[in-house]
Amino acid sequence: MSDIPASLDGSIMPLSEARVPVTDRGYLFGDGVYEFLRVYRGRLHLADGHFRRLTRSLHELGIRHDQAATLPRRVQELVNHSGHLEATVYIQVTRGAAPRAHAFPDHPRPCELFYVSPFADPYAPKRAAGVGVSRHPDIRWGRCDIKSLNLLGNCLAVQAAKEAGNHETLLHKDDGTVTECGHSSFFAVMDGAVITHPQGPRILPGITRELILELAASRNIPVRQRPLRVEELPRCREMFLTSTSAEILPIVRVDANPVHDGVPGPVTRALQEAFSAHLADWLASDEAADSAAI
Ligand code: PLP
Repeated sequence: MSDIPASLDGSIMPLSEARVPVTDRGYLFGDGVYEFLRVYRGRLHLADGHFRRLTRSLHELGIRHDQAATLPRRVQELVNHSGHLEATVYIQVTRGAAPRAHAFPDHPRPCELFYVSPFADPYAPKRAAGVGVSRHPDIRWGRCDIKSLNLLGNCLAVQAAKEAGNHETLLHKDDGTVTECGHSSFFAVMDGAVITHPQGPRILPGITRELILELAASRNIPVRQRPLRVEELPRCREMFLTSTSAEILPIVRVDANPVHDGVPGPVTRALQEAFSAHLADWLASDEAADSAAI
């Protein structure tokens, strides 16, 4: 851990030396937000979307972080300093330390942490072969659109999936609506169209999801943003999940049941190709060079 460079309240240090008070509200209440970005060849991918979502999460929780506007520059500087070309960045901002009381302190001092970890891409074989998912009740809170630190509902569901030998969990509400996965967005393909839950309080507005919708439009793949129902799952020809680190993973099994013929389908493959082409274009573009030159 000691070689992972971190920034804690603006001071650079090894992650293993970063310390926060036990009265931090992130520790006591999960009162904070986070972001997670992927670095390709030293450049922050989809940085605008991630920092926009971080700003929104802070705003929705009423956390006033004066240094938020300088984060993109400071994060890129730490990436440069780390020397890692393929990496991930974790960013967390809490409401800070205060005597324990549910209501906010009168004069909160937010606590900001970010660090850069090397990324060896463990997902490559799964992108090729696909993964299994386990269905699980979605017991999370009512504001899943905020990327808050409160992830216990996600953790319990992902743990159950892991114990069942699956990569992810597929969450569904009591009303039979499929929402998303434990740490990724969910898509299905039915009747030739890609189906995904519309944005709203029941899902995280995934930054990769946003890109997938653009890529689908650019390839003339029809998309319907509507909630899928659990009883529709057997009719789906394909399923896939997306996230910052996993990119696009085909889902080939739900519990014991294969998705259609149990292998990644053509729409998933087309979107994976579109994603690779997008990355190649972006890495060749001035936009990527600008982000790294910050
Ligand atoms: N949904 C949930 C619940 C997540 O935790 C994540 C990622 O952490 C995603 C979706 C995917 O979001 P993104 O594409 O921004 O990584």
